Order: sequence, then structure tokens, then C-alpha cells
Amino acid sequence: MTKIILRKNEERRLLAGHQWVFSNEIERIADAEADVCIAAVYDWRGNFLGRGLYNKHSLIAYRHLTSKDEDIDGRFIFKRLSTANALRRKLRPDRSVYRLCNGEADLMPGLIIDKYDDKYSLQSFSAGMDLLAGEICDVLINQFKSSLIVEKNNNSMRTLDGAELREGILYSSSESNGAEFTADIDGIKYSIDLMKGQKTGFYLDQCDNRKYLRSLIKEGDSVLDLFCNDGGFSLNAAAGGAGKIIAVDSSEACITNVKENFGLNGYELPQTHSADCFDFIDRLFQSPERFDVIVVDPPSFTKSRKSIPPAMKAYTELNFKCMRLLRPGGLLLTFSCSHHISEQAFEEMISRAGAKAGRTPQLFLKNTCSFDHPVLPQMPETSYLKGYFLKVI
Ligand code: SAH
Repeated sequence: MTKIILRKNEERRLLAGHQWVFSNEIERIADAEADVCIAAVYDWRGNFLGRGLYNKHSLIAYRHLTSKDEDIDGRFIFKRLSTANALRRKLRPDRSVYRLCNGEADLMPGLIIDKYDDKYSLQSFSAGMDLLAGEICDVLINQFKSSLIVEKNNNSMRTLDGAELREGILYSSSESNGAEFTADIDGIKYSIDLMKGQKTGFYLDQCDNRKYLRSLIKEGDSVLDLFCNDGGFSLNAAAGGAGKIIAVDSSEACITNVKENFGLNGYELPQTHSADCFDFIDRLFQSPERFDVIVVDPPSFTKSRKSIPPAMKAYTELNFKCMRLLRPGGLLLTFSCSHHISEQAFEEMISRAGAKAGRTPQLFLKNTCSFDHPVLPQMPETSYLKGYFLKVI
């Protein structure tokens, strides 16, 4: 088996629970079997540290799978996925739709698996994890009784790992009725199309925050849902008894889906706009309309540290304007899914936006992703979503 020998002291991060080794931390490779393969890793003194996925061409040259001397095979994958599944089943036995495997946080670096009853959406971030795709599918088909598996290997991060971008159906049983279906999440029906949906097909990470919004709505509240995607927040607002709802997203396909989702649930259709949210809120200022609740959940404004300053400017602009558009005492649910924006920076942005708007934001809840997206404190890279629930006086 390929052996990776680390430079002196470069074992420390692995021993502290991190899972990545960067290419410049490797002293040498011995018995190389392939450029991308399963490898055993050793410290500079020759002590065995574990096994994982090696990629000669990636900056993240090694992703750790286990500290034991064990085979990385179907049994190993089944154990890992069963452990991940057991956590979700324990936390929310009522849910059959959830993220089954959240990559590093479930000790499967670079592997995302979303579960929709017996249908699964897979995303791999590394060429190394791609090697295990066949065995992962076998486990999902034979042990998890999957009827459909799609791969959504469309994330541009893959190119950093020398892995190609591709999407498609990996497996479909004779009982499967395809990648388009209706799923029930916390009592609300969603029309889901795994092939057409963004990222892994659907944003599961916001399910808990959407449900919490439902409990905050007062009968007749007016709600503005910015960057609404398939309308998850709007649907929960409607379920909570909201009156007027305006849902905005730049994607026409998302807006079509918002309408379909409202229809599926028998709710009165919201006002929908396929528009740029920045332009849309500027137009709202021309009208006297103000809201009881605003949700602002933009895409990541920064994929690297370099673009933090323009991203902060965009967040401040959006949040300042949203605060102005709220009635006194209204609620602002503001999110950032940029890993590179720290909690501290986001909180400073909120206070700047409040001062600029002449309003007092009062924080009553800080939240992150839903229960099925665990985070490893020893790997800050596994954390990205920040959600601030504010009353704006
Ligand atoms: N709130 C959503 C998830 C938002 S994801 C939910 O609960 O599921 C971010 C969304 O922003 C995507 O749907 C994307 O289409 C949309 N988007 C990206 N840039 C935009 C822009 N400038 N104006 C409006 N929508 C935008």
C-alpha cells in the first residue's frame, strides 16, 4: 500500500482531530501505487497514524479516514454511514428526509449524501472519495435499500482536486419513479427535482431555521423572503399564519417551484418575483410598504479570504436596507453561508447596519445549520452557516 511519511511535527494537526494533510507537509511517499489511492500515513519517526485518501495532484494531498489499521472497504463504509444515520434517527426519528452524511463532520472527508426516503443525492469533493463511489452505491443499494442514487458532482471545488464535473443518475431500481418527487419535511410538502435543483438538489441545511420561523409568525404578519430559492421560509411563514408574503429569487426556475410548492400545500399563492434582490429592495423603498418579518439568506458572497471586504460591504448594504424596511419591532432573520465570514465579523456588520438604519437590532437567537449538518469543532472548515434572529426596534 502507498505510504505517506509526514515531515517532523506535521502529525500534530491529524492527532488533534483534523483530517487534512497539505502537500507541503509530506516528507516523502513510499511504495506509491497510484497518483490517487488509499494510503497509510506515518509520522517522521515511522509511527502509524492511520489510513485515508491520497491525491498526488491536490493541495489537500491526504484526507484521513481512520486511525486504525483497517481495510477501507464496503464494511468500513457501511459502518460509517450507519453511525451517521443513527445520529439523525436518534435526533429526529420523525424525519425520513435529511443529510445522511456531512463529509468531514461524519468522518467521511469530502462526501455529502442527502437522503429523501429511499432516494439519495451524492456529492464528492475529492478524486480520492470518487474511488469509493462504487462501494458507497453498493452500500446504499443493498443495506439502505435505495431506489435511486444521483450524483451531483458539480461543485467547482472538485477541479482543485483534479476531479471532473459531472451530474447524472448512478442507479435507478425498477420501482424508482425518477429524480422528481414530492417530499414531506416537517409537515410541508416540497416538489424536489434532484437533477435540476441547486447544489445537492435542495437546501436541507435551513430546515430547522424555517421551522423556527413558523413558530415566530403572528396571524396576518407580512413577510419578505429574499433569496427564497424553492420558498422554504415562505412556506413555513404561510403555515404559521402569515398574511401577505413576497418571495424573491433571481432564478426563474426557483420561482416556478415556489408556486408549485404553495399549490401542493394548498396555501394561497404568495407574490413572487424573479429579480435581483439588491434591485428589488431598492424598488421597495419607492413604496410605503413595510414588513413584520424579513428573511435574508443570500448565497455565499466570498469563497476566499481575499474577497471578505467586498462581501462585508454587500452584507451591510442588504441588512441596513432590510432593517429600514421593517416595521418597528419587526423580525429580521439574517444569514451568511460564507465560511470565511466569522461570527464576530457578522455581528459587527449587524451593528453597523443598525446604526446606519437608525434602528436597534436585538439578538434573541444565534443558530447554525439543521440537526443533520453536524460540525467538528476541531475542523473549523466544517462550519459555514450563521443565522441571526433579530428583533429590530
Ligand atoms: N433561502 C433559501 C436558500 C437560499 S440559497 C432556502 O431556504 O432554501 C441562495 C439563493 O439566492 C439561490 O436560490 C439563488 O438562486 C439566489 N440568488 C443568487 N443571487 C441572487 C441575487 N442577486 N438576487 C436574487 N437571488 C439570488
